[in-house]
Amino acid sequence: MKKGMATIGTVLCSIIIVVLALTLVSTTWANSGKPGADSAAGQDALGQNALAKYVIYINWDACAYRYYEWANSPGQPGTPNLNYLASRGALFTNARNGIPGITNPMQTSIVTGTWPAVHGNTYRYYDPVENLVKETGRHNDAETIAEVVEKSGLPCASVQQFMLQERGTYPDDPYHLYIQPGAGWLKRVAEAEKILNLKPVFGMNGKMITPAERPTFMAIYADDLDAAGHNASPGYGFSVARDYDSWKAKMTKLMIDMDEGLGNLIDALKKLGIFEETAIILTADHGMTPYWGPSSLQDLIKTVESLGYKCEFLGKNGRASKNTDIVLVSAGLSVQFYFRNAISDAQYKALIDTLASKPYVGGYFTADDLKKEGAHPSLGSLMIWPEPPNHFHTSGKLIGLGGQHDSGEESSRHVFMLISGAGVKQGVVIDSPVQIIDAAPTMSRLMGLRQPANATGRVLYEALVVDE
Ligand SMILES: [Zn+2]
Repeated sequence: MKKGMATIGTVLCSIIIVVLALTLVSTTWANSGKPGADSAAGQDALGQNALAKYVIYINWDACAYRYYEWANSPGQPGTPNLNYLASRGALFTNARNGIPGITNPMQTSIVTGTWPAVHGNTYRYYDPVENLVKETGRHNDAETIAEVVEKSGLPCASVQQFMLQERGTYPDDPYHLYIQPGAGWLKRVAEAEKILNLKPVFGMNGKMITPAERPTFMAIYADDLDAAGHNASPGYGFSVARDYDSWKAKMTKLMIDMDEGLGNLIDALKKLGIFEETAIILTADHGMTPYWGPSSLQDLIKTVESLGYKCEFLGKNGRASKNTDIVLVSAGLSVQFYFRNAISDAQYKALIDTLASKPYVGGYFTADDLKKEGAHPSLGSLMIWPEPPNHFHTSGKLIGLGGQHDSGEESSRHVFMLISGAGVKQGVVIDSPVQIIDAAPTMSRLMGLRQPANATGRVLYEALVVDE
């Protein structure tokens, strides 16, 4: 190689390095700090155009799909606002949650776009190393949709969507505001309206805080349906139902009430003149399965022990005794199995066959099934759930009925899901199966942003005005 060429080559290399460095600096600059005036350009690193200027994610905790069917059945007033949004969007008639169907793991799945195996939140589990039953609280190893919005330099907000607290939204940050107004859905809609109008809201630290910009992404969480569905106390002013028919009537009425509150939000968006630019996605973490009568737990333990195992049921913070072969853990419906000693394939199969023959067992997931469902390995090596109205609580439900949702049964797994507005096809009913982990990637696409880093769900292109 000639000397002169080497010099030219060095100069070219230096120029390329400087250009790359400048590009890196400008990219880093653009992605840091507070959102600027031009930050709503709606372009991400892939250069996709945003389909919606604003995305509102509503979570109605425990909104079983069948509540929607009940509210719109003959003789009922129906849900005019949900139906209006459906006429301007896509209704999913086959949306399912994951395992376990419990609030924190599933709320985490929706905002991260992935299952507990990835984000690590699996609620209650037995840790064999410490011989202790633990709970995962608000643990989350995966990036949230709000963190994506925040890192993209865009404003966001969360009205009590607690899995976004300190995870993309913060009590003291007017650009990425987290508030927790309590009360019910109506109050939370009223607070969301204030945020959209850049009016002061009551912050978590006892002082008023004014949102700095209208959020590109806003989450609103409401647990009215969950409280009423559990039927344990008159939460949010709903009476405790004494039998299944009155429980069903209560849930139908509440679904219609929730719809009215949704109307307030639609009106507010129209008044502001941003309804046409906004996409709304509404879904839930799980449904609700009513249960009543004596508990089947003692018979379950007896059945396991009849096969020669020492079996022990443990609650939170429980520890197994020395000779226990199988630890059982439950949140009321499903029972998780932990084998403390090696078990052969034949023994495993014999155990399942024996349990499955019991009339109170509704179904089961083997270790392989659980893996396919995206369950966390800590959930155990076998999960069974009861045939409604049976249950595995430590005591019977001899008066009235309760509701619980940690089940593989349809009433717990089949959830409501709707996407409507900007960027969404109009009046589409999608009967093919979708999962709640598809919500976050779809919201990312609507905003023209990248998906949360750990997302394993997919963009629901069948509902959008663009193709893959
Ligand atoms: Zn829930």
